[in-house]
Amino acid sequence: PVERPEHIQAQRIQLPVYAEEQQIMEAISENPVVVLSGETGSGKTTQVPQFLLEAGYGDASSTNPGIIGITQPRRVAAISMAHRVAEELGNFGHTVAHQVRFDTTVSNTTRVKFMTEGVLLRELANDLLLTKYSVIIADEAHERSLNTDILLGVLSRVVRLRMKLSTENPEKHRPLRLIIMSATLRVDDFVKNPRLFKVPPPVINVQSRQHPVRVHFNRRTPAPGQHVSEAIRKVAKIHRRLPDGGILVFLTGQAEITYMCRQLQKQFPTVSDASFASGKPGTANGMQTHVEDEDIDIGDCDAFTDDNELHDDFGSDSEEEEDIVVGGSDDTDDKSIAEERQLLLSENLKTAVDSDEIRPLHVLPLYSMLPAEQQLKVFAPPPPGSRLCVVATNVAETSITIPGIRYVVDAGMVKEKAYDSQTQVQSFEVGWTSQASANQRMGRAGRTGPGHCYRLFSSAVFNDQFTLFSEPEVLRMPIEGVVLQMKAMNMDNVTNFPFPTPPRREALQKSERLLTWLGALDAKGRVTDLGRLMAVFPVAPRFAKMLIIGQQHDCLPYVIAIVAALSVGDPFIKEFNIGSDMSEGVDSLSFEEEVAVSEARNLTNAEMAAKEQRRAQRHKYWDMQAKLAGADPTSDILKWLTAIGAFEYSGGSDDVCQQYFVRFKAMNEIRKLRRQLTTLVQMYCPGANVSMDPQMPPPTQLQQSVLRQIILAGFMDQVAIRGDIAGYHNPDGDAATKRRGLHAEPYMTMWSDEPVYIHPESSIYIAARNIGMPQAIVYSELQRTSRLWAKAVTVVTPK
Ligand code: ADP
Ligand code: MG
Repeated sequence: PVERPEHIQAQRIQLPVYAEEQQIMEAISENPVVVLSGETGSGKTTQVPQFLLEAGYGDASSTNPGIIGITQPRRVAAISMAHRVAEELGNFGHTVAHQVRFDTTVSNTTRVKFMTEGVLLRELANDLLLTKYSVIIADEAHERSLNTDILLGVLSRVVRLRMKLSTENPEKHRPLRLIIMSATLRVDDFVKNPRLFKVPPPVINVQSRQHPVRVHFNRRTPAPGQHVSEAIRKVAKIHRRLPDGGILVFLTGQAEITYMCRQLQKQFPTVSDASFASGKPGTANGMQTHVEDEDIDIGDCDAFTDDNELHDDFGSDSEEEEDIVVGGSDDTDDKSIAEERQLLLSENLKTAVDSDEIRPLHVLPLYSMLPAEQQLKVFAPPPPGSRLCVVATNVAETSITIPGIRYVVDAGMVKEKAYDSQTQVQSFEVGWTSQASANQRMGRAGRTGPGHCYRLFSSAVFNDQFTLFSEPEVLRMPIEGVVLQMKAMNMDNVTNFPFPTPPRREALQKSERLLTWLGALDAKGRVTDLGRLMAVFPVAPRFAKMLIIGQQHDCLPYVIAIVAALSVGDPFIKEFNIGSDMSEGVDSLSFEEEVAVSEARNLTNAEMAAKEQRRAQRHKYWDMQAKLAGADPTSDILKWLTAIGAFEYSGGSDDVCQQYFVRFKAMNEIRKLRRQLTTLVQMYCPGANVSMDPQMPPPTQLQQSVLRQIILAGFMDQVAIRGDIAGYHNPDGDAATKRRGLHAEPYMTMWSDEPVYIHPESSIYIAARNIGMPQAIVYSELQRTSRLWAKAVTVVTPK
């Protein structure tokens, strides 16, 4: 039997899901598909796998010998949840494992396997019946990631197939069960969808005890780009004036988060941070007060004198709107908040109010690019005497529950990948999130007790500009990868696929056309042998094609490295981030945002030296870019290749990253992907003679031109022609273009009449000094900010 640690058992029995064990397990044993919905934090992810384990699932000697699989949309969640469940299972902890791209702890003792959806999709391609599993839990289904949708479509069929086989031959086959778990929204998309499930699956709704949360809207919505400084102000106020309890902040991306964490650490240094803030320990406090004074408006001063009205004063801040209490009946809510305030005031008056003795703030970032061990820090209690403040992306919205959060500060925004299937423009768009997800975020404050949610936008904006729900990813992402996967599973007619939400018709057509061009489909839309081979590689179809045609002139190791880098993403630290946090770069922050954030810095005297140093670093950065671009700066992708080679040649350590201005995490992933792709090429491409040596000698001249051809073949539909040749009429006149220099040179793509411009960080501009702006380029990505930027560019025919 399972023997759990005592404190774990005490926590478990508090969880709403725990009380429903019997009902849940009965539904699962009586139905092939069950939908389980419940508030975030009610115990779905951590408890249901344990119920199944204790009921014998995954036990080789039972009637359900297959293992228990749980899919997560994010790597962070797959890893951290596996950790947690292992810990909860005490003496059975060793039966829990995780598998994400490049990283697995699966062994022959594994009975519970947490994985990303991508991992299970790949397994499906090799074993459509999922014979290893007795049950699959599709977690966080409400997020509607592209992979969840595809998985649910495929799994609905696999469940039927296994059911049929098990009635025909019960000795050999056992049924597969599917549990769809979701936060309390949008379950109808799965349940009332006869294409997906002919018989609607039963829905179990777990009621949870959500404490009331008081919502405070801002009276004025901050101007674009001001939400970060507004969030900083709000957190500072909460920390100075409100009683104990963790703070959770929602921002849109890594750069904002890094910036905010740094600012907060400076304002509220812990002992070890003090030297970081000022260069000299001891002066940190003085500087902190100085910064603070400028920030305080007059109305604030009263707060420090009127102790009894602490909370109310904060609530009726001139910049805030009406308060709204959510959850429970109003009567009891007000009482409980009032009571609680009295209680906390008497306990915490000193720490909360006495401005000379502000407690340390334990500030932690949380976003998906952060290394796993740093992500796990948010679950640990903060150091004694300090307050936890987690600054997160929407990772913390539903998939991860951080203990002890009482205050939520929500900028109301989200950065999402958007994709225009007409122009093939992929962009990261920062925009308002949906009402549903703002409400999820709010709910994070009411897990431990009554809480507060500060929305940094007005209720009018919330009502008028927020959509009710976020759009499912299948409508916002390129789908040629999943179309190829389906075709490789012999689902020829993709329009018949039981999508929870079908993709747009033109997106399907576009992807079929691209796959046909790449040779993956024949004229009738059926998968070719080449297409089948392409589907083996865990990369986008165009990159798979590059791998397969890469076997010329001993180019394969280079092609593999290029494909790995293209799949992982630009490994360079953005110029903007130089000298700030060298270990991590900026995830796709728009150009404007970068400028806005960097201008938002209010430089104090103490920071002038640091600014100088950053300037020097920038020089070094551009020197290094020029050096890596080398004698042939006509391809950014070949520059990446040189950087990878140089990095590995110098030992490939974290320190070396600083020298080459690359991100260690990205370089590590590129190395792992190279290894994986090398193995796959050896396995599936007969005659390919390639072995993995991280260190590559630089390619010869001949090899360089072959590589250029291969890059062109992968991106042949992403050509752009210089505006003057393509007959583009610049509405500003040619003179304007000339005046503003090379960066204003327009290019035309095959897909629209809107000009694109080569991104300022491209090394093409170095080449252009000698050969002028190229007539034709291919780009690996278009990004929209104020303009359309072509990124990772290669010149088609350099002179
Ligand atoms: P759900 O899936 O319904 O959102 P979970 O099963 O993830 O809920 O979480 C249940 C509870 O377990 C939460 O209250 C959370 O605080 C706690 N918990 C989850 N992961 C951890 C962890 N790594 N450390 C401490 N507590 C955790
Ligand atoms: Mg969960």
